[in-house]
Amino acid sequence: MQSMKFSTRAIHAGQDPDPATGATIVPIYQTSTYTQTGIGEHRGYDYGRTVNPTRVALETQLAALEDAEFCSAFASGMAATAAVLSCLSAGDHVVVSDDLYGGTYRYFSRVLERYGLTFSYVDMASLDAVRAAVTPQTRLFWAETPTNPLLKLVDIAALASIKRPGQLLAVDNTFATAYLQSPLALGADVAVYSTTKYIAGHSDVIGGAAVTNDRQTAEAIRFYQNAAGGIPGPMDAYLVMRGAKTLAVRMRQHDHNARAIAEFLAARDDVARVHYPGLPSHPQHALARRQMRGFGGMLSFVLRGPASRTFAFAKEVRLFSLAESLGGVESLLCHPARMTHGSIPKEDRERRGVTETLLRLSVGIEDEEDLVADLERALDATLALAAR
Ligand SMILES: *Cc1c(COP(=O)(O)O)cnc(C)c1O
Repeated sequence: MQSMKFSTRAIHAGQDPDPATGATIVPIYQTSTYTQTGIGEHRGYDYGRTVNPTRVALETQLAALEDAEFCSAFASGMAATAAVLSCLSAGDHVVVSDDLYGGTYRYFSRVLERYGLTFSYVDMASLDAVRAAVTPQTRLFWAETPTNPLLKLVDIAALASIKRPGQLLAVDNTFATAYLQSPLALGADVAVYSTTKYIAGHSDVIGGAAVTNDRQTAEAIRFYQNAAGGIPGPMDAYLVMRGAKTLAVRMRQHDHNARAIAEFLAARDDVARVHYPGLPSHPQHALARRQMRGFGGMLSFVLRGPASRTFAFAKEVRLFSLAESLGGVESLLCHPARMTHGSIPKEDRERRGVTETLLRLSVGIEDEEDLVADLERALDATLALAAR
């Protein structure tokens, strides 16, 4: 599989015909336990939390997407995040990018701080800021790139060069996916995913994964997966696996549509800012070209006018559902300050640029013309409010 290209791996890795029946598609092994042929005699399957064939097939597939050796699948992206953080102990320190998925921030600040871990939030676009945050206790660097919701980039290779022996670099690759970006090849130790998003891609399942080439880290994550039990059920593993087969074709269309929308928005006078790494105006456009194989389907923008216009706009769009989450085939609109990032204190939020007039789009794979027309109509319909 390793020598094959992306979609071939996505469709074939871990997807051997079922040994019992020849079923072409990996069955949903909906079982909690396995009958043993004699005491101590079984085929490596003993209990469903520890191992399940459908989950193993998914893990094999997701590792292959990354050209990696090891993958553990989880019940959610947060469960995958927790598994990576379980490699640390009380007293350890983590350097984190300050533009962060709200749930990750909540988990770090409200759960793990109570367990004796400490966190420094820095703008990882500045390597000096990252270096300055390192302490003798630093064990982990946690980066998101592109970030949510401002689409800032972190130079993964540069970050990897700061890392010292005994320190790990984890990259939340949920936005780009392995199709557009290869954190492990760039020097990261672990790639973390909310498979809920692009990998499953149909907004019908919650899941997560942690992928690595480092055996010791893989074993620690696997141990935690069984010990804490945040596993995906067989049905969920199947749904993620089915989605992942079409990741490449979907990502190409997400990327195509998002570029068109970013250009459309950037050309409007009533839009104050557009955050999209594919725009030459993005401060890290050159890095995006170097580090990514495309720019993805996520973008955010700031509407001109008072917050009341932003709220009116959110009611006006028809094809974009006002919803949290991202990465599905259907387009979504989100107001980060009141939705995904609501758990971040207001002052922190505003300082980071997550203001009341910021909107985030998860651009789906509908036809580009229809999406642009929908946004255009909603912008025009709320134009009068912009002048106030
Ligand atoms: C959604 C998301 C998560 C959390 O994943 P869940 O599957 O919702 O637990 C983590 N990181 C990013 C960037 C996300 O978008």
